[in-house]
Amino acid sequence: MNTQPLVRVEGLHKSFGPQEVLKGVSMEVHSGEVVCILGPSGSGKSTLLRCINFIEEPTAGLIFVGDEIIGHRRTPDAAVLQQVRESEIARQRQDIGMVFQKFNLFPHMTVLENITHAPRLVKHIAAGPAKATAMDLLEKVGLANRAGAYPRQLSGGQQQRVAIARALAMEPKLVLFDEPTSALDPELVGDVLEVMKDLATGGLTMIVVTHEIGFAREVADRVIFVDDGVIVEQGTPAEVLDTPSHERTKAFLSRVL
Ligand code: ADP
Ligand code: MG
Repeated sequence: MNTQPLVRVEGLHKSFGPQEVLKGVSMEVHSGEVVCILGPSGSGKSTLLRCINFIEEPTAGLIFVGDEIIGHRRTPDAAVLQQVRESEIARQRQDIGMVFQKFNLFPHMTVLENITHAPRLVKHIAAGPAKATAMDLLEKVGLANRAGAYPRQLSGGQQQRVAIARALAMEPKLVLFDEPTSALDPELVGDVLEVMKDLATGGLTMIVVTHEIGFAREVADRVIFVDDGVIVEQGTPAEVLDTPSHERTKAFLSRVL
């Protein structure tokens, strides 16, 4: 394994008004790793993902992705960090894909347009190549025959697979998944997890917030259990899921398993 992590979260704190939601989170993810984050509702999992791609600005702490510090730039002598402008944060964010619980597809665009929109607008890819890439991705998520459909014509599971294709179209170094199957009817969960398994096998670096313990057990290289804004424990799936060392982890697992 590469020794330099792709993602390094260092001393992350996030408050909303008086409420401190993240209370000092530090973690690393290496290239090609799949990390699953588990934890009770309200423990700060979504906030953690949103800070990693700077949808939320950390109250304190730094997020390193590759050679970049999200939201910051080093001065030439590397001694001082400067805040960067929103336009530069947008550029840094291109390395980080995000898949949301509620899909968030553009309702007035076809499946194909949803996928080609950002590559064309942000990366200035020409129509032909953007479409070719989108069709490859639709093939990968099993929806090549739905390119002309609108989101409302698709099931939730199909919409989520389009959302995954849309994230991949920007060729991110890292994809964040925030409970990607929680809004789906049970019979639609499997197809989405299958696509995510394929991506994991293909070497994509993924941070996945999920309650799907079976997926975490099978696919994760590492499982992180978060409660009340801190990482309570982390380890291999076997360590965290089968022999958790903290009472809070045991209590959580007894509720979801
Ligand atoms: P989880 O994803 O683990 O369920 P969240 O990160 O969504 O937890 O939320 C953690 C806490 O932060 C909750 O108490 C939530 O109400 C609060 N919170 C999250 N986002 C905001 C926000 N934008 N403004 C105020 N409070 C927020
Ligand atoms: Mg959440």
